[in-house]
Amino acid sequence: MMAPPRIIDYIVVHELCHFHHRNHSDAFWNEVDKVLPDWRERKECSVNAGQVWISERQFEDNTAM
Ligand SMILES: [Zn+2]
Repeated sequence: MMAPPRIIDYIVVHELCHFHHRNHSDAFWNEVDKVLPDWRERKECSVNAGQVWISERQFEDNTAM
């Protein structure tokens, strides 16, 4: 099943921001916010859609995705 484009956008931006921030710090989320101000809504959708993101496994904090 393909995720909706807005969710894919969120996942791609999230991943790109990890090139600068190898964690889910406030600085990381600020970076995501610059590109996708509505990332919180997209994040929720991605979780509800059950999207699994393999690269997130390397980050062991609780705010993945
Ligand atoms: Zn992440």
